[in-house]
Amino acid sequence: MNKKVLVTGSSRGIGKAIARRLKESGYEVVIHGRSKSDGLLSLSKELGSEFVCFDVGDTLEAKEALSKFSEPFYAVVLNAGIARDAAFPAISEDDWKGVINTNLNSFYNVLNPLIMPMIRAKIGRIVVISSVSGIAGNRGQSNYSASKAGLIGASKSLAIELASRNITVNVVAPGLIMTDMIDENLPLDEIKKLIPAKRFGEAKEVAGIVNFLLTDEAAYITKQVIGVNGGMI
Ligand code: NDP
Repeated sequence: MNKKVLVTGSSRGIGKAIARRLKESGYEVVIHGRSKSDGLLSLSKELGSEFVCFDVGDTLEAKEALSKFSEPFYAVVLNAGIARDAAFPAISEDDWKGVINTNLNSFYNVLNPLIMPMIRAKIGRIVVISSVSGIAGNRGQSNYSASKAGLIGASKSLAIELASRNITVNVVAPGLIMTDMIDENLPLDEIKKLIPAKRFGEAKEVAGIVNFLLTDEAAYITKQVIGVNGGMI
């Protein structure tokens, strides 16, 4: 299979599991991180994958870094993201704008430079990683929820624009997945009790649905938000 796929934020966590799963399916996976971290370099070695580094919140940096890919990507998985949680009165301007910029403006920064070649190729898949927090809201996450809800709106509009071009756009909305993003100081055992499945999810459980959305069998699934949350919502 010679289908090239970009997974943003694949140096660790959910993105890393997605990159591994897609490589296992035979895709040519391009991995990505903000910087040339040890995690990115070792995954690149493990998968034999090309890597690219840029800040997804920086429009020019993203455009420049992505300009080296002259061939269209078959799929783009927008996964890179951050959380800066605090009760609303305590959220600093930096943490409000930083989260919106990294999580939401990255939709434009990454997809805009890549989309025309995909449209010309008349085939493709876009998968956007949102969150249960973007659907239901969550205490202490007004900035994060806003960014993740924004991604759902942007994805639905793009799905309508691209459906006739044979490009699907779907959102995967994980619940609580054990990665670096989860603050270990939270009362994790208490939180677990609130999840109907009584456990946190695993990154590979998110990777599985992303992998399916890239298959031919998923060609008629577009504009959907798919939860991976153990029954949280
Ligand atoms: P991690 O913190 O483990 O990994 C984040 C990844 O995003 C890293 O690869 C990091 O790269 C990259 N990244 C962060 N900011 C930037 C930036 N400005 N530019 C480029 N790359 C950046 O997070 P998770 O794996 O937990 O989360 C992945 C996605 O899943 C996120 O969008 C998150 O919001 C979402 N999600 C996670 C949930 C969870 O419970 N873990 C639940 C719901 C959604 P680097 O290593 O270079 O910093």
